[in-house]
Amino acid sequence: MSDCIFCKIAAGEIPAELLYRDEEVVAFRDVNPRAPVHVLVIPVEHVPGTRPVDPARAPLLGKLLTVAAGLAEELGIAESGYRLVINQGPDAGQAVFHIHVHLLGGRRMAWPPG
Ligand code: 5GP
Ligand code: ZN
Repeated sequence: MSDCIFCKIAAGEIPAELLYRDEEVVAFRDVNPRAPVHVLVIPVEHVPGTRPVDPARAPLLGKLLTVAAGLAEELGIAESGYRLVINQGPDAGQAVFHIHVHLLGGRRMAWPPG
């Protein structure tokens, strides 16, 4: 989508610190990190969020989680633990309407979240 910031990052039109890229998925560091490791994992395709529910997207959503988990290993936070978060909609504080998995780690995190 032309006015979507994450589409622009996926297209290389806006710089980001890329940690992973293939034909379907891109991962990059969050510009405003909330933890020592804060990475966003997104599909190249513009998908606004987890809605509308579409079983055909299951492989892509699974791939986002798999790439995030692989990066956690690479970045050395897998043993200490990490959190994978998708903010969906207003109550979750979703700010960018291109689906993204937050990979957060490197410090102890509160549960339940605020
Ligand atoms: P949301 O609240 O939608 O789940 O989170 C959006 C995230 O995207 C925020 O953590 C924010 O810091 C991050 N973000 C927004 N714009 C940019 C950007 O231009 N570059 C990068 N690297 N991260 C961004
Ligand atoms: Zn987009």
